[in-house]
Order: sequence, then structure tokens, then C-alpha cells
Amino acid sequence: MDDLVINNLSNKGIRTGKQYLEGLRDDRNVWIHGRKVQDVTNENGLKSCAHTLANFIDRQHEPKYINHLTYLDDDGDRCALAFKTPKSKEDIKDRGKSYYEWAKWSNGYFGRTPDYKNASLMSFASASTFLEKGIKGQGGKVMAQNMVNYYNYVRKNDKVLTHTLVNPTYNHQQGYKGKFSEKVALQVIKETDAGIIVNGARLLATLGPLADEIEVFPSTVLKATPDNIPFAFAFALPIATKGLRLICRDSYDLGKSHFDAPLSSRYEEMDAVIIFDNVLVPWERIFMYGEPELCNPAFSATNAVVHMMHQVACLKLAKSEFMVGLMTSIVKASGRDKDLYTKGLIAEVMQMTESIRALLFSAEEQAHEDQFGNYIPLRYPLETSRNLYPRMYPRMVEILQLLGASSLMATPSEADFANEISEDVEKYFQLSNLDSKNRVAMFRLAHDVAISGFGSRQALYERYFFGPPALMASSYYDLYNKDELMERIDSLLSE
Ligand SMILES: Cc1cc2nc3c(=O)[nH]c(=O)nc-3n(C[C@H](O)[C@H](O)[C@H](O)COP(=O)(O)OP(=O)(O)OC[C@H]3O[C@@H](n4cnc5c(N)ncnc54)[C@H](O)[C@@H]3O)c2cc1C
Repeated sequence: MDDLVINNLSNKGIRTGKQYLEGLRDDRNVWIHGRKVQDVTNENGLKSCAHTLANFIDRQHEPKYINHLTYLDDDGDRCALAFKTPKSKEDIKDRGKSYYEWAKWSNGYFGRTPDYKNASLMSFASASTFLEKGIKGQGGKVMAQNMVNYYNYVRKNDKVLTHTLVNPTYNHQQGYKGKFSEKVALQVIKETDAGIIVNGARLLATLGPLADEIEVFPSTVLKATPDNIPFAFAFALPIATKGLRLICRDSYDLGKSHFDAPLSSRYEEMDAVIIFDNVLVPWERIFMYGEPELCNPAFSATNAVVHMMHQVACLKLAKSEFMVGLMTSIVKASGRDKDLYTKGLIAEVMQMTESIRALLFSAEEQAHEDQFGNYIPLRYPLETSRNLYPRMYPRMVEILQLLGASSLMATPSEADFANEISEDVEKYFQLSNLDSKNRVAMFRLAHDVAISGFGSRQALYERYFFGPPALMASSYYDLYNKDELMERIDSLLSE
């Protein structure tokens, strides 16, 4: 239970990759491929990603990055920049630069670099006056202080977070009415002096097995009725909490080399369903409790969603640029780069990339002070980006398939360059502008984007990780400034 002491600030700032890996060697209860994992840092299918993230964490210390990826806090401790509360437009731009740098390390294929959750946590802590309204205005101050304490704990100890926001669906009609199923959804079953006891399941924590902590925050659509009170809360726990079980999907990291599986051998973030088996959540780890009307708007009202969308837009820019780079390299190698149809397809991806860049620029340039006296990027361009990308990315994958065709399948392995068929492979896989080994490497990369299990999961991730597209579109419609536009119609019709 030592980890639950959130005023333990012993680490004081950014960790090393080694410290991160050591932290994962605890008694977490993770299940994959039908059995319990002994050590996630040494488990096939999980370990490569853990080591990739450790490498990223180390990079924060490099002279090249340290000044723009970290900051010195008031105590003189060096912390990750996403934790810094922005107080100016320049601060917003600096955040954007740091998100983009982290994103480029994986070309956008590592969705849950810690900056994503750090940005959200910073927003909740610096908008704690929102949480003070909690417990019908009576106990909210304590909850708000819990949030600030937790933020400082994570920030000073450089903890890696995941989050789970969604209950499993039992019946969609029930879900549309803002209800959750008592059979499957996470709910409070008891209060004790020490805290609350929760039971049930939550979807789908990306990076869960390789995170230090999990935020269990509210789903956004919960009707404010008394029977929904047990489902309304926000809290955080260490992954290695008694009663917490993580059930992983199949891993797409099949132990191949970086040559054979350039992306899945590096960035296979696991997704896990989280089971809470009578888990005790200590009071000091609870930030909202029993109030659907407080929980529902929380991400929006604290501006956490704006800061998260900012990080995501930077990540998607890096990913889109990578797609352009891959596609142009592929067509150059075969001499198709002069072909009008080919250029038209890639121009579509370039235009999507430039749209994300323009939206990001617009959001940062129009950054403004929020109701808490902090700065946020302009929300609407980022809303546009997050609504477009679930359609953009699958189209990019489709274009890569159209460009790659059978070459995405004609991909001998690294070992074939060193066995008795190596002469065949050297001769028959060359392109006019690329020797055989480099051609195979390139198309193995394209395969990992467009065809492999890893690639398919990425496309699904882009469609859903920010929530159901129908709900995101609905909230986009509601937020849109429509009145003046309708007035123009009225005025034309009344002329
Ligand atoms: C790869 C991946 C990683 C993820 N990682 C995380 C994570 O780390 N943390 C986390 O909390 N969540 C994560 N998610 C879960 C994500 O939040 C959900 O997938 C998303 O909210 C949709 O919920 P669902 O999957 O239960 O789909 P369902 O709710 O079952 O939706 C199924 C379909 O119904 C539509 N639909 C849903 N509600 C409505 C409605 N009210 N009106 C009309 N249509 C509707 C959806 O758009 C979708 O097409 C992840 C998802 C994926 C695929």
C-alpha cells in the first residue's frame, strides 16, 4: 500500500528508463494468452513496448531535448513539460513543440506516450475549483485537494498513466438512455472508513499492463438519476492494486526483428479490459463521487479535453507526415512518381496532413485565457481535427493498400537474405530505384501499417480511442456557433 501515499514525492522529477522498468516489476495481475504474467518487462508480446517507452523516457534527459521537453518547477525539480500549467500563448506553443517531438520518436504509432495523460492531469489539477463544487458543495474542497495532491505525486515521481473511461456495453438501448448495466459496469458497492469498494469492469486501457497508475474517470453520458449514483466517480489507483486484474488481447508483437516487423516490434501498446474485484479505493484517491451531473461535463469543464486534443493533434500530424514519407518513398522506388493517378492519391494524403497542420496552427495561434486563469488552445480547430481523423486515417491506409498492392504481401523475411534462397531474393525483389533488401524493408514497413494485426488495430484505434464518432460529432454540432448562420437564412427569406 506504500504506493498509495500520494505525498511521497521522493523521486523528484523525470525518471530514467531503468527506473520506469523497475517500477513495473511489482505484483500486478496481468493476463495474456491464457496465463498470468510474472514480469511484464520480460514477457513476450509486452516487453518490447516497455523497453521502447523506457528508451523514450531516457531521451528526456538528453541535452538535445531536456530544455524543451521538461521544465524546472518552483522547487527546482525537473519535470515533464506537459505538467506545466500554461500561462501564455508561448506556453501553449511550447507544449505543442514538446508533444510533436515525443510523437516523432514513434512517427505517431505510440498513442499513449505519457504526455497525453499528463496534459489531462494538469488540467484537472489546475481547474480544481470545478471539483470544489463536488459532493453538493459540501465535500468538494477535499476532493479538489486530492486531485492537486495526486497531480503532484504523478508529476514529481514521473509516473506513467493510463486511463479507463468506458463501461462495457451490455445493451446498447440502455447505453443510449444514459444507463449502465449492474451486471458488467464498474460501480460502488460499499463505503468504508478507508474508502469505497468498487466492483465491475471497464474498457479498454491502452498501455494498461505497462503503466504505473490507472485513472478511472467518468464516462460522459450518465443520466442524473438516483440509480446512477453508484456509477458516478473519478479516482486513480496503482495498477498493482489488490483485486485489479488486466485481461489483455492477443499481442501483435510476435517476437520478430525490427527488419521484419518495424512497427509491431517496437510500439505494440497493449489494450486491456480492467476487472475490479472488490477493490478498495482510498478516500484520498477519489476526485469525484456520486454526482453524475458533476462527472458528465468534467473533461469539458476543466478543459482537460482541450489539452488532450492538442496532444493528439500533434501526434496525428507526425503520423500523417510519416504516411506521406512512406508513400512517396514507395512510388519513387518503382518510378511511379510521375504517374498522375498515383500523384493524385498521395496528394489526398498530403492535403489531409496539411489540414491537421493548419488546424493545429489555428488552435495555437488563437490560444486564450480560460475561466481558471490558465491558457488553452482554441478548442474548435482541435475538435475539427479529432472529428476528421477517424475518417482520414483509414483512408490513408486504403491509399497505401492501393499503392502497395501485392508488394505488401511479397515480403520475404530478413532470414531469406542469408539462406540458400538469398540469390533469388536479391535478384527478384529489386526495383529500378531500390535494391532488393531495401525494397523488402520498405514494404515490410508498409505491411505493418496497412495489413498486419498491428496495422489493423491502429486503424481501429484511430476510429474509436477518443470515443464513439457519433457522440463526438453530436457534441461538435452542439458546440458549433450556428445562430448567426441561421439568422442569415432568416434574413434572406424575409427580404
Ligand atoms: C484500440 C482501442 C484502444 C482504446 N483505448 C482506450 C483507453 O485507453 N481508454 C478508454 O477509456 N477507452 C479506450 N478505448 C475505448 C473507446 O473509448 C471505445 O471504443 C469507444 O468509446 C466506443 O465504445 P465501445 O467500443 O464500447 O463501442 P460501442 O459503444 O459498443 O459502439 C458501437 C457502435 O455504436 C456507435 N454508438 C455508440 N454510442 C452511440 C450513440 N449514443 N448514438 C449513436 N451511435 C452510437 C459507435 O459509434 C459505434 O459505431 C479504446 C478503443 C480501441 C478500439
